[in-house]
Amino acid sequence: MTIFKDIVDGKIPCEKVFENERVIAFKDIAPQAPVHILIIPKKEIPDIQSVVGEDIHLVGEIIKVAQSLAKEFGIEEGYRLVTNNGSLGGQAVFHLHFHLLGGKQLSNQLA
Ligand code: 5GP
Repeated sequence: MTIFKDIVDGKIPCEKVFENERVIAFKDIAPQAPVHILIIPKKEIPDIQSVVGEDIHLVGEIIKVAQSLAKEFGIEEGYRLVTNNGSLGGQAVFHLHFHLLGGKQLSNQLA
């Protein structure tokens, strides 16, 4: 159980920007760019390393949601879509999520 599961269940409020039966997206509480949205599956998958074959379509759907949100928020010309895996990878919340970042010149430094 993570804080993101509580968000999925509506127990914790969030600034929601997209939702369907499988995916929800909401603004990051501590934005690191003018646009900083978290896109997550409702299914409890801890991280990208835990994704199994049956989840591949879900991950693809998240990419489509990211494309659509990038357009909606006017950043389709340049953005970063990133997921952190494990503590060593900088992950703090162990419910798979993709950061959609944009609205400024992003550094080409990835690590
Ligand atoms: P991670 O480091 O796991 O890749 O990213 C977790 C992200 O979740 C961080 O950017 C953090 O600001 C965000 N976050 C943590 N708790 C909450 C919350 O309760 N609500 C929202 N909207 N974002 C959160």
